[in-house]
Amino acid sequence: MNNEEPPRRSLSVRARLLSVTGLAVVASLLVWHGQVADFLGFDSPGDKAPVIGGAGAPDTRLPRADGDVPSTPVSTPAVTPKPKPTKPPKKKPKPTKSPSTSDNGAYDEESTEGMSPKLRSRLLKAMAAAKADGATLRINSGRRSAAKQRRLLDEAIVKYGSYKAAVRWVLPPEFSEHVKGRAVDITPAAGAKWLELNGYRYGICRRYDNEPWHFEALTTPGRKCPPREPYALAE
Ligand SMILES: [Zn+2]
Repeated sequence: MNNEEPPRRSLSVRARLLSVTGLAVVASLLVWHGQVADFLGFDSPGDKAPVIGGAGAPDTRLPRADGDVPSTPVSTPAVTPKPKPTKPPKKKPKPTKSPSTSDNGAYDEESTEGMSPKLRSRLLKAMAAAKADGATLRINSGRRSAAKQRRLLDEAIVKYGSYKAAVRWVLPPEFSEHVKGRAVDITPAAGAKWLELNGYRYGICRRYDNEPWHFEALTTPGRKCPPREPYALAE
């Protein structure tokens, strides 16, 4: 029993000595290695790590992160197409406004459109007879809208200086035979002269002294026309 103990002590002491010397050797080697490394200019692993990290991974990862961010806005445009279907219904009411022209009285003034049946039928017969006689009759102004007549009167008031003077040439809409479709202005002057001389055969007469172009259906076809009036009266 006594013999066994000393060897254990000696071994433990030797082990301790070896461990201490081993640590000293390792420490000295580490110090020496560090000095050699500094002398040779090697960078320590701690210095290299930040350089590698800053140059490589962060640059490539940041753009990818930015690229992922736009992916979320892409989802928002998909939501916008939904309000678009609400726009087509707004286009539907537009075409319904066009038929209102008949109420406004937009007539083809240089035709028989809108004329009374009596004046129209008589005028067509007269124009056919004039053509056969070598004369030219054209409709300069037939049926007018009330708005057009008002506009003509406003222009005449400016031209002649007063309402009283203007109505001798352009009657107010409520008095105008053009607005009623019962008057026609003929052009050119030679054609109007032909109608003045021959219109009675078709019941068409010149009405005013100051308007050689203005005609109305004032008599029975074949009968003499009534005496002319000096100018139009708003009454
Ligand atoms: Zn007229």
